[in-house]
Amino acid sequence: MTDAEELAGRVAEGELRLHELEQHADAEVAAEARRRLLADETDADLEAIGAYTFDAADAAPNVENMVGAAQVPMGVVGPIRVDGAAVSGSKFLPLATTEGALVASVNRGCATIRAAGGATARVLENGMTRAPVFRVDDVGEAAEVAAWVEGNVDALAEAAEATTSHGELTEVTPYVVGDNVFCRFVYDTKDAMGMNMATIATEAACEVLAEETPAELVALSGNLCADKKPAAVNSVEGRGRTVAADVVVPRDVVERYLKTTPEAIAEANTRKNHVGSAKAGSLGFNAHVANTVAAAFLATGQDIAQVVEGANAITTADVRPARAPDDEGTDGRQGDLYASLTIASLEVGTVGGGTKLPTQSEALDVVGVRGGGDPAGANADALAEVICTAALAGELSLLGALASNHLASAHAELGR
Ligand code: NAP
Repeated sequence: MTDAEELAGRVAEGELRLHELEQHADAEVAAEARRRLLADETDADLEAIGAYTFDAADAAPNVENMVGAAQVPMGVVGPIRVDGAAVSGSKFLPLATTEGALVASVNRGCATIRAAGGATARVLENGMTRAPVFRVDDVGEAAEVAAWVEGNVDALAEAAEATTSHGELTEVTPYVVGDNVFCRFVYDTKDAMGMNMATIATEAACEVLAEETPAELVALSGNLCADKKPAAVNSVEGRGRTVAADVVVPRDVVERYLKTTPEAIAEANTRKNHVGSAKAGSLGFNAHVANTVAAAFLATGQDIAQVVEGANAITTADVRPARAPDDEGTDGRQGDLYASLTIASLEVGTVGGGTKLPTQSEALDVVGVRGGGDPAGANADALAEVICTAALAGELSLLGALASNHLASAHAELGR
């Protein structure tokens, strides 16, 4: 009997619990024992789940009760031509997805952007948040605590920043609701997505706040952060990177690559992304930004649940007067297409979390942003600019398909 069989038997007998196996064997054997147990109990064949290529011990910080790995097909789009503040030139972006036609669609948008001479992208703001909730006696005390917070950001920063060599507290905003005080702490977490970093730092700051004021901490996360829930606060204030990309696509490029006109794309964008989204009460005024964000997150080791925030995005599309080649005003030709995408809360990192795992770090290498940047934060900024530009490409392609009535046929051809 192998070690894994013996361990699986002991779990089945109730002698050991599923999560205790690593105390009796190395990570590979523990995972194999769980697969055996599952195979016995459920008749499932876990051969594919067990055929992973990394060292199980390396995944210990990322998963408990490990049985193997989920493998998601990965494609690539590009080159993405982008003129950003943190990245410049042509980049490829790996996308992991099971949605047929997605990679092809984003890639068509990337070709459109290339033919247009490239997109511009910028990270506009950068701040990971944690918002603990405190209990106070009444609104009088709440106002007193809020005033203390506003006057003592330096003391809170000193405590918070003592827990990290990279993180910087940039802002604390108090919000009062009756006898609740929420403090939304905002951090520059450099190349880390920063949720662990911000949580640990905020805990230290809360100790100071609780010592110096009558406020009592109820929960380190009071949901005004807001992590992994659709929330207007992230759309308005931003969370992680607030990043934008735009492009002017000449009319002939729109016709050649997107098989439609700038007017048709602008109209589809207004009626669908703006009017339709408003009527739906949507937070995201875009066509399918979550598609590109989710596929890029999966490929590069981001926290996939934060696609919720990554979909807080507004796409604009307008017809602009065509510029004469010497750029001295309009030349009487019909207009070109201006398109932009602004993602309010794209939470990305190139260190920490899932970014260290082997396929994920290889994917970050493809973009050229594995690990810490120089200066710190530059790699995460670059990744945000590339993802935003790819998502803009996805918007252009889908709007083109809708405007030219090609959406159903593209999915029928590529996705079935
Ligand atoms: P982390 O893996 O916990 O920490 C990353 C660490 O890398 C930083 O704390 C920093 O150490 C260090 N580091 C080295 N070079 C750096 C650089 N150039 N820039 C920034 N940091 C650098 O990752 P995290 O980003 O803070 O948190 C992400 C993880 O949190 C994910 O696994 C995610 O799933 C999980 N998560 C946690 C919560 C929560 O509430 N705790 C919520 C959602 C998600 P120093 O701090 O010492 O400088």
